[in-house]
Amino acid sequence: MELSVVVPCYNEEETIPHLVERLAAAIAPWSARAEIILVDDGSSDQTWDRIVAAQAQVPQVRGLRLSANRGHQVALTAGLQAARGARIFMLDADLQDPPEVLTDMMALMDRGYDMVYGRRAARRGETVFKRLSAYLFYRYLNALSDVPIPKDTGDFRLVNRQVLNAVLAMPERARFIRGMFAWAGFRQIGLEYERDARHAGVTKYPLRAMLRLATDALTGFSIKPLRFATRLSFLSLFVTLLMAVYVFGSLYLFSTAPGWASVTLAISFFSGIQLLTLGIMGEYIGRLYTETKRRPLYFLADEIGGEAAARPDTA
Ligand code: UDP
Ligand code: MG
Repeated sequence: MELSVVVPCYNEEETIPHLVERLAAAIAPWSARAEIILVDDGSSDQTWDRIVAAQAQVPQVRGLRLSANRGHQVALTAGLQAARGARIFMLDADLQDPPEVLTDMMALMDRGYDMVYGRRAARRGETVFKRLSAYLFYRYLNALSDVPIPKDTGDFRLVNRQVLNAVLAMPERARFIRGMFAWAGFRQIGLEYERDARHAGVTKYPLRAMLRLATDALTGFSIKPLRFATRLSFLSLFVTLLMAVYVFGSLYLFSTAPGWASVTLAISFFSGIQLLTLGIMGEYIGRLYTETKRRPLYFLADEIGGEAAARPDTA
């Protein structure tokens, strides 16, 4: 097996037929030894039926159905674990990442790179809020993270088996896959592409999901927020000293009655700092808790296709 394509799909019934058509064309040069793995992330629409229908028409299609919605990163992981190819290409189901870029990525890999990730030069059809939050996110993440994580880069990429195995060897539950690939190392290169508008349907990443991905990224790739909490305590110590000087000074100099305003301010300032610090610690403790439970990331409810490729003579 030369090439595996992995696509997580959540409520993408409208895009699947078109996606498979474009993918089949994009993988044509390798299609004799390729597979297209569509992972249904517990969709509540006709996604699975569309995958089954696509499999009947395009023999390279394999379908995996997760038992429940586990989120983009876990669905992608499920597909990556099932992939058998020497090179693995991953993209979103909504055709925001053009499958045709595969040709250029393959060419770069032929020149000796182990991983070619797509860097978004332009983002079409996305809201100003989405673009701005993504812009700020990738910049802050890099300032905080201990590994350089390529900016404006999603999970759209081509990796070889060596790189994939490195990432599959990372057992963490909270998965920020683009960061894990960056951390893996090897010879990486970015390739600019234009991110299209969604082919159909709406985004499956509401603000809640974006925030979760961002916290997974931060807590998974940096402990600097914890250090920040420690620094805050120094700040609060410093402010306390200033206040003490003021309080004693006013006692001796003006002998004024102590004001409630400064007391209220001090209380809210310090309780704010305490809550923030507790919150930061809570995030990390929560991650520790989920990691120690060691639950399986997902369960497969259904699987189709891929039998022929599984036979040793064709693999
Ligand atoms: N996705 C998924 N599970 C989820 C949410 C999203 O598998 O719980 C898939 C979705 O089908 C798509 C990809 O993840 O293939 C990216 O999602 P989307 O395009 O909605 O995100 P956006 O491009 O708006 O950030
Ligand atoms: Mg999208």
